[in-house]
Amino acid sequence: MIEREQIEMDVVFVGAGPANLAAALHLKKSIAEHDELVERGALVGKKVGDIEIGIVEKGPYVGAHILSGAVMDPIAIRELMPDFLEQGCPVDTVVTEDAAWYMTDKKAVEAPITPPPLKNKGKYIISLSKMCEWLGEKCEEAGINIFPEFPAAEVLYDDNDRVVGIRTGDKGIDKDGKPKGNFEPGVDLLAKVTVLGEGSRGSLAKQLTARLGLKQDSEEQVYSLGVKELWEIPAGNFAEGRVVHTLGFPSDTDTYGGGWIYGMKNNVISIGYVTGLDYKDPMIDPHAEFQKFKTHPKIAEILKGGKMLKYGAKSINTGGYYTMPKLYADGVLIVGDSGSFLNGQRIKGIHTAMKSGMLAAETIISAFAHEDFSTKTLKSYEAKVNQSWIYDELHPVRNFHAAFQKGRWSALINTGLQFATGGLAWGVMPKEHGIPGYERMQHLNDRNGNSDPTRYADLKFDKESIFDKITDVYHAGVAHDEDQPSHLHVLDTEICATRCAEEYANPCQRFCPAAVYEMEFNEKRNRKELKVNFSNCVHCKTCDIADPYQIINWVTPEGGGGPDYKGM
Ligand code: SF4
Repeated sequence: MIEREQIEMDVVFVGAGPANLAAALHLKKSIAEHDELVERGALVGKKVGDIEIGIVEKGPYVGAHILSGAVMDPIAIRELMPDFLEQGCPVDTVVTEDAAWYMTDKKAVEAPITPPPLKNKGKYIISLSKMCEWLGEKCEEAGINIFPEFPAAEVLYDDNDRVVGIRTGDKGIDKDGKPKGNFEPGVDLLAKVTVLGEGSRGSLAKQLTARLGLKQDSEEQVYSLGVKELWEIPAGNFAEGRVVHTLGFPSDTDTYGGGWIYGMKNNVISIGYVTGLDYKDPMIDPHAEFQKFKTHPKIAEILKGGKMLKYGAKSINTGGYYTMPKLYADGVLIVGDSGSFLNGQRIKGIHTAMKSGMLAAETIISAFAHEDFSTKTLKSYEAKVNQSWIYDELHPVRNFHAAFQKGRWSALINTGLQFATGGLAWGVMPKEHGIPGYERMQHLNDRNGNSDPTRYADLKFDKESIFDKITDVYHAGVAHDEDQPSHLHVLDTEICATRCAEEYANPCQRFCPAAVYEMEFNEKRNRKELKVNFSNCVHCKTCDIADPYQIINWVTPEGGGGPDYKGM
């Protein structure tokens, strides 16, 4: 039995992303305001006082594991910190120009009018990693404890299933599961309220949701995978402040997908491609879709003479309002992407994530003021969300992703219809996220020859503009100590060698954007078997989401391991 240190906090935030950093800062500021009102007699109730707030983060520093496009709507940060620019918020560029391109194989046709959800003029192109690093500094200045290299491994419950904190992962375990000389057991961080803001497919949110049935009344979540590179390009190839979103090539019309190019300072561009993880063809490879996107003549022209600087990949929740889990339970709240706050139509979630965190903070103050941390008080978080601009923004686009289930053309009609009717959609009414994305993947034999194993055969990985996964992983700065147990738990590798090989040709080899999964020939058994190169993992969570048998469980590796997305 391992003896573990127990640290008593008041509030523990899991994950130092935009939702939790905004939440912690807002909590600190609002407690001071609340207590002052009580002191002056302007508010009836108890003072909250000086409470201990901690943020645990699996990365080596705040921002290391943070990746986004990203164009930020400043509505939330303005509420959090009206003088955010004066305080040095590291925005890169103001958007000055928008465009939407429809990509055929050879041409890019610019929409005469940019669709309103894709209008970004006046908003900010940012590195979300940099922004989180800066918000982390603001938190520390405000007296909030940040614990980097502290991966949250499990949720702690009392006998009544009330959440009472989290346990962090053990350090110094070798690849066979034995303690090494530097072994340090994880600690139990006990808290009156735990806030899960781990991003898309958070591992604790997954455990909690299953244990407490938080998805009983909502639709299945659907996810997408965004694959991104930062490039330095010759001056004049793409203007600073220009934002382009694309639809079409290389996605087929059955697959949800689209690209982006954002012009940043110093001739740097953010370029990337999103592929829905509810695709039907098991031969699809989201990383290869992105590489193919870059072969389009219009994109190749922008990249010509440039140099790739960094790489990253991350899943996002694209299901929207109908796919939100129950956002609270005794002792716990869920914020940001973990709570499905992303607006898929605008391809934006930073502002909604931050706002969800701020509403969680207000709920926590009320819980402390009433000394009640049960659902009786915490359920007011959901009401706060539904009375805020989050609802006004997400409810009208509640059918956006569902509209893509019948392909691109139905989606285009539906997007217009939804815009005109405040969210109604034709042919997908309502709540059509009935099945999880991985169930939409079809067996090769059922595709009647529509799967093309040579789909990417003409892709030439020249390592100048088109990169294989290993080269890209190098540019993600990934590092994991190899002498530790794999954090990718494949629950039944026999399925990989038999059923999965036959039914889907092992799609993990393709959907993983970091070449972690490989089918290797085993001479003794005369068959291919799964090899897991866990140290390549960029923590995108795609395998946990997209595996058609749901036998891959992503758990947190030893603290500090993972990508280094500094500046991404
Ligand atoms: Fe993403 Fe899973 Fe591959 Fe890691 S192993 S990079 S989480 S798909």
